[in-house]
Amino acid sequence: MDETAGGSRPVDFETATAVHRKRRRPLRAEVVSALEKVVGPEHVLSGRAALEVYARDSWPLAALRVHHGAELPLPDVVVLPGGVAEVSAVLEILYEHEVPVIPYGGGSGVLGGTLPVSGGVVVDVKRLDRVLEINDEGLYVTAQAGILAVDLERALARAGLTLGHFPQSVDVASLGGLIATRSAGQFSTKYGNIEDMLLALEVVLPGGKVVRTRLAPRSSTGPDVKNLFLGSEGTLGIVTEASLRVHPRPEKRETQSYEVADFVKGLELIRRVMRTGLRPAVIRLYDPIETAHSFKGLASQGRCLLLFVFEGFGRLVDLEASAVDDICGPEAERQLGPEPGRHWLEHRNIVRALPEFMNQNLVVDTLEVAATWDRVADLYRTMTERMLKVKGIISASAHSSHSYTQGTNLYITFVALGPDLAAAERVYYEIWEAAMTACLEAGGTMCHHHGVGLHRTRWMPAEHGEALEVLRRLKEALDPKGLMNPGKLFGEVD
Ligand SMILES: Cc1cc2nc3c(=O)[nH]c(=O)nc-3n(C[C@H](O)[C@H](O)[C@H](O)COP(=O)(O)OP(=O)(O)OC[C@H]3O[C@@H](n4cnc5c(N)ncnc54)[C@H](O)[C@@H]3O)c2cc1C
Repeated sequence: MDETAGGSRPVDFETATAVHRKRRRPLRAEVVSALEKVVGPEHVLSGRAALEVYARDSWPLAALRVHHGAELPLPDVVVLPGGVAEVSAVLEILYEHEVPVIPYGGGSGVLGGTLPVSGGVVVDVKRLDRVLEINDEGLYVTAQAGILAVDLERALARAGLTLGHFPQSVDVASLGGLIATRSAGQFSTKYGNIEDMLLALEVVLPGGKVVRTRLAPRSSTGPDVKNLFLGSEGTLGIVTEASLRVHPRPEKRETQSYEVADFVKGLELIRRVMRTGLRPAVIRLYDPIETAHSFKGLASQGRCLLLFVFEGFGRLVDLEASAVDDICGPEAERQLGPEPGRHWLEHRNIVRALPEFMNQNLVVDTLEVAATWDRVADLYRTMTERMLKVKGIISASAHSSHSYTQGTNLYITFVALGPDLAAAERVYYEIWEAAMTACLEAGGTMCHHHGVGLHRTRWMPAEHGEALEVLRRLKEALDPKGLMNPGKLFGEVD
């Protein structure tokens, strides 16, 4: 049990995720042949090796279990439909036969969102990978949901445009996955997050009905249907197509950085920049641990690095850079010039592979939260203090990477010692429990952009309070049999 956080939460994977508590019966042969008829037998995978690939996403705890030779639940089969009509037919068959459905994009989710905890059929949409229209006059793009973010951006670049959405996982995340998890890109301060880009979508509902929302720059026609599927994490339907806002490619890009005395001082400078109405494309503030780790030789020991990237219309870029300098220059310890920004732009998507840590018996994960400016300094202190009290933790470091007029996010990385699976799972769950409860108590939201998946469902009642009832009723209305991605977002496994 979790003594550190004072709670009675389960601290092992099986209990915490309720895996196999209500495992459904194995898939019947007639269902498999019906699926094969729709997508072709070559697009129904049932070999052990394929099922093991689809048994996990990029959740570090799943990787840890595999590293220690522990089992993960397997899907019954994986289906790869080739178009919306096939997705619809697949969902019709699966709903009729009461088979759980796990929508799958790039598998880069970091919270177990695609783990088939009740078995069932993984529906991988990677064959839906076409750009359907780039409309330069209306400045929007329509693409299928399985396209990778990197391929969509390449197609737009050829047309002189950009989506402006650059998650660190840009090479592996799919458009549908980005929508389904309410993703945030590294350039979000200027271009917004995925919800600011989405104009319309096509989604296949449980049972197979295809729904399209109207493409418009804005409308006042009742609750926004497309928004119901933003962040729905495969629990309400399968997104098959989306139209998104795009922008002309920036004329100019500049970067500049500052060394600041401490993290709270850096947060205050970002607040002032945002309050002025300036919109750098990127604002990142690193605490002393992350500054030393990511900018070796580029900043002084013990200081925090505050980094800006400006891009867009040339004259505006110059103006923004000089206005930010007016705010930050006098308050910073040192102006560091463009070099740290260039270094970040070059290395921003390089991530150390988890096995490097696991081979040293280290447990590593990241968690991202957010709060308004009046709460965020307290949130930073409370969360890191509580996390550092957990027995076995080695470090908890933070940066802020997505800022708004009203507040910012904190992206916290922890490293802990876990010599065997039981110890690793214990320390993992205890640190998360300490972090999430501290966050909610300090008035933050428990998640800025990675979503809920399987792992964060435990804190959904505390996050939403009575508002969770609205989401649950929506789920019951759209998915009365509870077959879409069981166990995720809402927590139910049946
Ligand atoms: C190294 C690394 C860096 C990352 N950086 C960022 C970052 O900067 N910003 C960020 O926001 N996230 C980041 N992530 C997290 C991850 O990339 C995002 O959550 C991403 O949106 C997941 O997309 P995916 O296609 O891989 O989805 P998957 O992992 O395949 O699925 C994620 C969830 O979406 C559902 N889903 C997938 N496709 C569909 C669909 N077509 N219709 C309905 N539901 C669907 C799944 O069922 C699941 O619940 C990072 C992850 C890694 C490993």
